[in-house]
Amino acid sequence: MLADEVMGRIRSVHPIAGPLALHEPVFVGNEVAYVTDAIESGWVSSAGSRIEDFERGLLEVTGSQHAIAIVNGTAALHLSLVASGVGPNDEVLVPSLCFVAAANAVSYCGALPHFVDCDPNNLGVDAPKLRGYLEGFGLERSGLVNPATGRFVRALIVVHNFGHPAQIDALTEICEEFGLTLIEDAAESLGSTYCGRKTGSFGLLSTLSFNGNKTITTGGGGAILTDDHELAARIRHLSSTARSTERWVWSHDALGYNYRMPALNAALGCAQLEVLPRLLESKRDLARAYFAAFDGLDGAALFREPEGARSNYWLNLLVLDRDRRSEREGILAAADAAQIQLRPIWTPLHQLPMYVDHPRMDLSQTNDLADRIIALPSTPRLSGDDPAGA
Ligand SMILES: *Cc1c(COP(=O)(O)O)cnc(C)c1O
Repeated sequence: MLADEVMGRIRSVHPIAGPLALHEPVFVGNEVAYVTDAIESGWVSSAGSRIEDFERGLLEVTGSQHAIAIVNGTAALHLSLVASGVGPNDEVLVPSLCFVAAANAVSYCGALPHFVDCDPNNLGVDAPKLRGYLEGFGLERSGLVNPATGRFVRALIVVHNFGHPAQIDALTEICEEFGLTLIEDAAESLGSTYCGRKTGSFGLLSTLSFNGNKTITTGGGGAILTDDHELAARIRHLSSTARSTERWVWSHDALGYNYRMPALNAALGCAQLEVLPRLLESKRDLARAYFAAFDGLDGAALFREPEGARSNYWLNLLVLDRDRRSEREGILAAADAAQIQLRPIWTPLHQLPMYVDHPRMDLSQTNDLADRIIALPSTPRLSGDDPAGA
């Protein structure tokens, strides 16, 4: 039985006998100390030095010029789209195989997500297929036009699914050639690199998430990264209700958003950043242990980082062979009974009720993969008596 084989092999790589969660937060550094400091100092809300500390830390980790801490990754995507000029009736290219946040953020702008297919080698947007598709579009002076709808296509959101870098160099070229803004959703890929360069540094605007299930967490949180000084200033302004910067004037010069990350969350983030290198190391160790344990399994294989890229292996994935896809439900049920938290990959976005009528290209690769991928328990294990820096 494939299900029994899979359960046995998962158990063999985890040192604990009890329930196995998909991905838990790991607090082994200065988390309690920094959050306590924040409470004792009174600086818990939308101002305070902890926010700046956290933003500075993000610059070090990602190599970006500017980082703006945001309430969550979805809001970071929304504000990135707003700041790059996406508006009502525009279309934005979004992978169908990804978390729903990207499509929702486009919809919040009154724009329409236009779904594109994934590359089975990296689970990101299929660059050659996208290029072929866009060659049928009209490139006018004011932008790229979808011939089927007459709407402008303004941007491409690239997602590094499960931490595996998409083919970002080819996708960057496509964006340049077709006049599209590149927005990079690096929520799952903190610490991953493509040709030696960190994900989160490729988009005109790139976004992160620090939700509780991500590589590091601030409870809830996100960030926008960019090398563009003007955009950074505009996003900082818009994220704090577009409030006037004159000292005692309480006024707003644009439609702003209350999207800044509170200092309490940033304090937690500062402690998590200190532990990040060890978390990343431990996640690679876990991936290596999975590869060893699943070696020679008949009927399924683990997903490996794409060539030329280094993945943070945020979640380890098991991909069932095509002729074994019907066994996925049985595996998920067996895991549930064994208190092992497995997750099927997201339902493709073009199949969700609010998006069934949205524009799309051929999505055969997404459809082929979506019902045979399973995410495996991927919490890194660090011992609590070995705090950050020790
Ligand atoms: C988690 C995630 C988000 C959204 O982040 P939140 O902080 O939960 O709003 C966006 N995109 C991807 C790819 C994600 O995995």
